[in-house]
Amino acid sequence: MSSTLITNIGQLVTHDPELGILHDAALVYEDEKICWVGAKSTAPQADSRIDAEGGSVIPGFVDSHTHAIFAGDRLNDFLARMNGTRYASGGISTTVEATRNASEDELRSHLQNIISEFTGHGITTFEVKSGYGLDVETESRLLRIAREFTNETTFLGAHVVPSEFKEDRRAYIDLVKGEMLEAVAPYSKWIDVFCDNGAFSVEEAREIILAGQSKGLLGRLHGNQLGDTGGIELAVELGLASVDHCTFTTDHQLDLLSASSTVATLLPGAEFSTRSPFPDARRFYDHGVRVALATDCNPGSSFITSMPFVIALAVRDMFFTPEQALVAATKGGADALRRTDIGHLGIGARADIIILNTPSFEYIAYKPGSNLISRVIY
Ligand SMILES: [Zn+2]
Repeated sequence: MSSTLITNIGQLVTHDPELGILHDAALVYEDEKICWVGAKSTAPQADSRIDAEGGSVIPGFVDSHTHAIFAGDRLNDFLARMNGTRYASGGISTTVEATRNASEDELRSHLQNIISEFTGHGITTFEVKSGYGLDVETESRLLRIAREFTNETTFLGAHVVPSEFKEDRRAYIDLVKGEMLEAVAPYSKWIDVFCDNGAFSVEEAREIILAGQSKGLLGRLHGNQLGDTGGIELAVELGLASVDHCTFTTDHQLDLLSASSTVATLLPGAEFSTRSPFPDARRFYDHGVRVALATDCNPGSSFITSMPFVIALAVRDMFFTPEQALVAATKGGADALRRTDIGHLGIGARADIIILNTPSFEYIAYKPGSNLISRVIY
């Protein structure tokens, strides 16, 4: 057992309702867990000591939605979009081809590079989805590699119907629910479906999620990104942990969400990168919906690894308050992964900690594009 004291904390954001925001604070963690929080003048002794130099200390970011394992890039898609082409779900096939052709070592080192960017930006827990293999062998390879880095792995065989099944989508759905699910189950905690225009219908998504649940996987869903396509209703009906994107929502859907245990995960990087209209977070909070923020890191529609940048977008373009955005990017992400041991700095939480070089956390939104992180502990 070895303990560490972080002292000289200008502002300590715990997200623990009992502790709140403390000034001139200190924190002690022993091995991997926080064991003491309080005024720095009353801090106990510890084996080692970190000086926060008056900076603020916040929980590590929890990124509950990434497509971080793939090969190649989609720079040309981005350039075309910036020239006025509208985002559609079809570009995924470019990445599928590159991913199928990549070696296991290439996939692993590419993922490793992305993860080191995540960590550098303070992301201490991340989910990784498959979905660029779309055949039994490649999907299971992607999830097996992702599992080396995180337990939050998500099977997204139902990302799009691959081109070889264009004439027979029924056969592809059966493959996803059958042989593919069987192969990936040992490496997958979650199952997800891209339920939207150009991807999978509500009925197809229901069938696939139910198949996953019957194999012991937990459900989450891409919904309401490209239109009002019924994803939110389905997520609530099936009691899924999260419905992600929610770019288009009605008041009725927000009422449904607020009465449920389903988190709405907003992904401002997708709206930003595809020049789409941002949803207004004030409506979600007015309706009492639980909200998470995630990077949606993927090569097509949000090639973003920085949660501070996501927070800045959320505040500027989605009308989050800085505090709401920070909670959504930490505790909200934990909620979306049904985790209580991360996303806050209460006693007993995992010692996943960001030390900022700014006197308050609001600088994350106020000073976008600057690296404000002096240290990440995880
Ligand atoms: Zn996504």
